[in-house]
Amino acid sequence: MKQERSKRLFEEALELFPGGVSSPVRAFRSVHGTPLFIASGKGSHITDEDGNTFLDFCCSWGPLIHGHADDRVIKAVSDALQKGTSFGTPTKFENALAKLILSNHPYVEQIRFVSSGTEAVMSAIRLARGYTGKNKIIKFEGCYHGHSDGLLVKAGSGLVTFGETSSKGIPKAIADETIVIGLDAEDALHTALDMYGADTACVIIEPVPANNGLLLQRPAFLQSLRAACTKHKVLLLFDEVISGFRIGFTGATGYYDVQPDIITLGKIIGGGLPVGAFAANKEIMQCISPAGAVYQAGTLSGNPLSMSAGIAQLEACLTSGFYTELENKTDRFLQPIKQHIQKEDLPLRIQHIGSIFWFAFEAKEAIRRADQIDPSSMRYFKEMHSALLERGIYLGPSGYEVGFVSSAHSDAELADAAHTIMEVLSLICSEAH
Ligand code: PLP
Repeated sequence: MKQERSKRLFEEALELFPGGVSSPVRAFRSVHGTPLFIASGKGSHITDEDGNTFLDFCCSWGPLIHGHADDRVIKAVSDALQKGTSFGTPTKFENALAKLILSNHPYVEQIRFVSSGTEAVMSAIRLARGYTGKNKIIKFEGCYHGHSDGLLVKAGSGLVTFGETSSKGIPKAIADETIVIGLDAEDALHTALDMYGADTACVIIEPVPANNGLLLQRPAFLQSLRAACTKHKVLLLFDEVISGFRIGFTGATGYYDVQPDIITLGKIIGGGLPVGAFAANKEIMQCISPAGAVYQAGTLSGNPLSMSAGIAQLEACLTSGFYTELENKTDRFLQPIKQHIQKEDLPLRIQHIGSIFWFAFEAKEAIRRADQIDPSSMRYFKEMHSALLERGIYLGPSGYEVGFVSSAHSDAELADAAHTIMEVLSLICSEAH
């Protein structure tokens, strides 16, 4: 595979940006080689600056549910672009996207648009604190919620711990407001709420945790989380930045039919343009400025280009049978690989939901918690990643990241990819590790 241009661009980027990138995982630090600089994408494929083309399972980390440069999205954005990029005023596009979401999502009544998932979660936490008048938050080890201070914390040792910062630059006083517990751990949840419920504004969870592998939760755990939050008068915040509009139009909320108090959204609602949103019932949302006293604002919030892309994407998601077909297609892709793993007794499982999948190396049983993942198992992914790149398949460059299938991936492309993945799995698993 030719890589001269990508390599040259990366050398230049190393001088321009810390680590050569605008966001850390892109730097290929967990896999072999250096980042590919992507020049273009169409449908299920991306092409790099050296002219190599790949079947893409990263899909810009989730937003591109209809693939790259989808004609409907491109037309909507181009039409909006002709009229101006931003006005800092309300536009009809915000109303249209909000109506599209709220009229098809019975779990929320009002929404506010922001410019990233991080901003959505940061604002939603402030809203939870403003609404309840309480300060602490409870989060789960292995869930990622963007990079705002109070959420960049990991568990210390013990069942229920105050967060230890996982980044420099975060005051201990802020980390101390975050309590971290394990996923799928009902005892810890009840202990934490018994101890701190009176001071806790919200419990935040990715209902489909997809940032530390794909740690699918038992529906009963999400239901008991709901009940415990209600009992302790603590808001339940579902972070659906990945799962929203991905595993169904109403995301994990609808999939599990568990009603959270606040939902954060992002990725798919912007069609690949910068966006985020948070939504709740009217009573909670009315606390947001200027209706209420919880301040939140943004120069580019509700930007007409992001809104137009979102409208085009979500309208296409609302086509009858869209999610069933995408899920079935993903099943048809993964089924032969699963059978191959079983037949050859290879050391991994595939965990998946809807059109999201994850290769869990050295997993003997369903993995639901971050601490069930042995970091040394990532050596398999590292080999797999470069072997697949060589064969024209692009996965996000970390074994902790999930893969996405888009509606642009054809059955034929997926069948070919499955074949290649089986070949590569046999190869890398047979080599000494
Ligand atoms: N929440 C979840 C669940 C995410 O997966 C992400 C990003 O991947 C974020 C929040 C942060 O979103 P953004 O990267 O748009 O700031």
